[in-house]
Amino acid sequence: MKDCVFCRILGGEIPATTLYEDDATVAFRDVNPAAPAHALVIPRKHIATLDDATAADAELLGKMMWAARAVAAEMGVAKSGYRLVMNTHAGAGQSVFHIHLHVLGGRGFTWPPG
Ligand code: AMP
Repeated sequence: MKDCVFCRILGGEIPATTLYEDDATVAFRDVNPAAPAHALVIPRKHIATLDDATAADAELLGKMMWAARAVAAEMGVAKSGYRLVMNTHAGAGQSVFHIHLHVLGGRGFTWPPG
């Protein structure tokens, strides 16, 4: 998708600090970190929101979770604790419409989230 910022990162048009990649996913540092450790895991396939995923994407969604685990280890927060977030639709705070898992760590988190 030419207007999608994350597709442009995948295409190398926009630079990013990559932490992990495999056949299905890429993870890079969030440009505006909300925690000392903050990365985004995205699928190589453009899917606008979680609601646009189909049953055929179920394995891909699992691969995003698996990648997040590796990213947490790469950022050094695997044992201290980390939070995974996927904002879905603008009402929940989604601002980039290419699904992504936030991997956040390096500080304490409260519950419920704000
Ligand atoms: P969300 O609001 O859940 O859709 O999250 C989008 C995230 O993408 C935000 O945390 C932004 O800081 C991040 N972001 C936007 N543009 C870039 C970029 N070019 N490189 C890295 N992260 C980005």
